[in-house]
Amino acid sequence: MVCYVCAGEGKRSDAVAICILCGMALCAEHVVREELPVLARLHTGMGETRRELPERLPRFLCPACSRALHQAEGEA
Ligand SMILES: [Zn+2]
Ligand SMILES: [Zn+2]
Repeated sequence: MVCYVCAGEGKRSDAVAICILCGMALCAEHVVREELPVLARLHTGMGETRRELPERLPRFLCPACSRALHQAEGEA
């Protein structure tokens, strides 16, 4: 597999990851690695609290999907 973004620019780079949203193959230069916090729910006497766990969930995105996701987050 070669990087889809590089291929569009007339270059050839080996892909190292796949975007989890659109399935685009990406080289190390174009991949966007993000980490999502994992939350645990703890029941206390006063109700429920959320605590962020130390290990985070990695995900690989292409630049286009990353932009699309963050524009949605900005609106919320
Ligand atoms: Zn690339
Ligand atoms: Zn994508």
